[in-house]
Amino acid sequence: MTGPALAQSPADAAPSGADWAAAVAAVRSVAADGRVLLICHVNPDGDALGSMLGCALGLRRMGLRQLQATFPGPPGVAEPFSGLPGLDLLVPAADAWTDPDLVLCFDAASVSRIGDLADRLDRAGEVVVLDHHASNTRFGRIHLVDPFAAATSVVVEGLLDRLDVPLDREIAECLYVALTTDTGSFRFAMTTPAVHEMAARLLATGLRPEEISRRVFDTRPFGAVRLYGDVLGRAELEPEAAAGLGLVWTYATLDDLARHGQPAYVLEALIDSVRCTAEADVSCVLKQVAESEWAVSMRSKGPVDVSRVAVALGGGGHRLAAGFTGRGSANDVVAAIRTELDRVLAEPE
Ligand code: AMP
Ligand code: MN
Ligand code: MN
Repeated sequence: MTGPALAQSPADAAPSGADWAAAVAAVRSVAADGRVLLICHVNPDGDALGSMLGCALGLRRMGLRQLQATFPGPPGVAEPFSGLPGLDLLVPAADAWTDPDLVLCFDAASVSRIGDLADRLDRAGEVVVLDHHASNTRFGRIHLVDPFAAATSVVVEGLLDRLDVPLDREIAECLYVALTTDTGSFRFAMTTPAVHEMAARLLATGLRPEEISRRVFDTRPFGAVRLYGDVLGRAELEPEAAAGLGLVWTYATLDDLARHGQPAYVLEALIDSVRCTAEADVSCVLKQVAESEWAVSMRSKGPVDVSRVAVALGGGGHRLAAGFTGRGSANDVVAAIRTELDRVLAEPE
């Protein structure tokens, strides 16, 4: 990196004017043939991919010619995202430039979320972190971290606007996928008037919301329907857990996926079918990724800050939506969650 980190804006504040100015200057100082590497978090969701690709397309519109977009882990995106504009810019992590002129990092709260790509931050000319997690650890040099933003794509729109890049339909499609993913299609608490105003600007480019929603949210293979039947059929309700607020949970194994011939991404929406349980504030889904390893999704309807549970168990996230990697049997992981829920609810925030 080129020098000391900028003075930090407080973790609970939106980016300052100095933060925005520094980020704009960092992008503008890249020559047309300078190399810009865009990175988003592992196992990317709609916000990670949409924010990264929307920003990449904006930089391409500015005339930047050398752009790579990437994320750690297996290359390729899940079927729901296979129609996103800008996917031609995607490269496998192993092929990402090792010493780019500029790195832009999207939707990652900590450096662990970009896995093996972390070394690119050390050797880059400049590093801008764009994110909206309150828990962001400020691991870059310039930080556009807005904990009040509903999605990282809100921050991206702010940057493109300051770079005088107009929204075109392709950029808008990426940012729309990101915005609808992280707001639960405009249902979650962060859905402010400003979110709807941004959606209006995106829609004004002529994108087709019904086509995007069907592709991203409402299309699954039949095998996934059957898989959900199995997995939802073993859900457990524990009304006494979480100090009586209630916990509902289930798990999906690698064998479940294999039996129904399904890829792992089909389980991403599983938490939405579990969290609707009226009798439980906290919901939880364990998705097996290896023999004794689980990707855990947690949600709360309001009373419980599940990010405190997730952070205590080595993960992170938002107050009402968080996750971590659990180890051991499914019962071990749920036992750890019960314990942390009790601890978090016994301690003041
Ligand atoms: P998910 O349940 O996978 O949709 O994740 C919900 C939120 O939790 C994400 O937006 C992330 O901020 C966070 N999250 C999930 N898994 C992890 C993890 N292993 N480490 C840190 N944060 C995570
Ligand atoms: Mn994300
Ligand atoms: Mn996000």
